[in-house]
This record gives sequence, structure tokens and C-alpha cells, in this order.
Amino acid sequence: MFHKLPNLPYAYEALQPHIDTLTMQIHHDKHHQVYINKLNDALKDYPKLVKKSVEDLLMSLDSMSEKIRLTVKNNGGGHFNHTLFWRIMKPKGGGEPKGKLVIAINKKFGDFARFKEEFNKLSSNFFGSGWTWLVVNKSGELEIMALPNHDCPITIGLRPLLVIDLWEHAYYLKYQNRRPEYIEAWWNVVNWEEVEKNFSKVAK
Ligand code: MN
Repeated sequence: MFHKLPNLPYAYEALQPHIDTLTMQIHHDKHHQVYINKLNDALKDYPKLVKKSVEDLLMSLDSMSEKIRLTVKNNGGGHFNHTLFWRIMKPKGGGEPKGKLVIAINKKFGDFARFKEEFNKLSSNFFGSGWTWLVVNKSGELEIMALPNHDCPITIGLRPLLVIDLWEHAYYLKYQNRRPEYIEAWWNVVNWEEVEKNFSKVAK
């Protein structure tokens, strides 16, 4: 199978107490794996697509047969989004970004506290399952957006830097209905060095 589950860049228990071990195990080994299985399965009869990167697939959904487009959107998005989510977290993360990224955040949102407030508000109030993103938009500016399901910003030409999973499977075992508590705890595991790297790749 072409698409494979990436290893977590840290142990399952590494993000405790903010994200618990069992959630990480189920989220990575079961949820993420199933998206990859379904993606591979959907592509197996399409020789031209079967070895395309998940990024290429998500950026060319329009040219895809209607028979598989939604399956690839959902499961390819599930694969891409989770891969990024694992990477932008780390044990003993948190704090604030540095360098060019903080300059861009201050320029767009005023300061880090206001950026975080807007991100939290959108994430807490988002109805249903989805993800909140910090992206670089087509004008090169930072933008916060929440997208439903596993919809991925690269499909609409945006470049993702940071993302939080708002699906209940990401927090329910520890936080149950208290999504705002999960979001607040998640800031303590953000890997800003990785987010800065994502920014330096797209900043012109
Ligand atoms: Mn998830």
C-alpha cells in the first residue's frame, strides 16, 4: 500500500497531562490508520492516482472521478491533517513563537494574546467535527479558519502552518464535553519550532 501511517515523533504518553496516552494511541493507531486504509483502498483501481502524494491528491480533487472524489477528500484529508497535527505538537511545547512568525502574528492580530483569543473562540464555537487552522492565504497574510470534516486548506490554495483537531475523538476520553479545556491544554504542547519551519517554507 502506497500511503503508510507515519510514526508519532514522540511516545504516546509524551503529551500528558495535556493529551492522555489512551487518546493518543486510539487517535494515531486506529483513527489515522483507518483514513489511510480507506484512501489506499479507494485508489487501488486508479493507476494514475495510486502513487500520487496525498498533497497532490488533495490539490487535484476537481480533476478526479466523481466516484472517488469525496472518499479521497475525506480520507486523504484525514491522512494529511493528522500527519501535520502530530508534527506540530511536542512534549514540553507551548510558549510563544519567535522570529518572522511572531512579527507576522503581531501584524495581523495585534499581539499573540489576541491571536490566541481569536483561535480559541473560533475553535470552541465551531459546530460539529472539524479543524481550526492558521494558514498563509493567497495574499501572503496569516488567516485563522475553521473547516468542517477533514477539509484541507491546500485544496483551496492555502498553506497550513498550525492546526488543532476539533473532532471529539481528539479529546473526549479526557475532556468529554469540555472542548474549551482541551483547546487551552493543547497550547502547552504546540511545537512552535515546527510551525516556524512551516512558515519559513511559505513566506516569500
Ligand atoms: Mn482526529
